[in-house]
Amino acid sequence: MDNCLFCKIINGEIPVKKVYENEHILAFRDIDPKAPVHILVIPKKHIRSVNELKSSDKNLAGELLLSAKKIAKDEGIDSKGFRTIFNTNDDGGQTVYHIHMHIMGGRQMQWPPG
Ligand code: 5GP
Ligand code: ZN
Repeated sequence: MDNCLFCKIINGEIPVKKVYENEHILAFRDIDPKAPVHILVIPKKHIRSVNELKSSDKNLAGELLLSAKKIAKDEGIDSKGFRTIFNTNDDGGQTVYHIHMHIMGGRQMQWPPG
């Protein structure tokens, strides 16, 4: 989609540090990491937020979540633990309107988040 930052990343217009990629999803390091490991996983298809997920996106949504398992293992944070987050709209703290899952780890996370 035009003017979507993450679509530009998918198209290669904006460089990122890639962590994992397949036909459907792309994972890359957050430009402003809030934890020692801070990775974003996005679908290659433009979906605005969790609010716009359709039942036909079931496999894609599952793939996003399952990628966390693989990436956490590859990053060596699986056993100590990590957090997966989807921020949605203003109250959720979403700033980029292309659905993405944060994977954060490498330090003790606080609960509840601010
Ligand atoms: P949100 O606040 O929407 O949940 O998360 C958006 C995330 O995208 C933020 O953590 C922000 O640091 C990250 N981000 C914004 N622009 C870029 C960019 O150009 N490259 C990368 N790698 N991350 C970005
Ligand atoms: Zn997009």
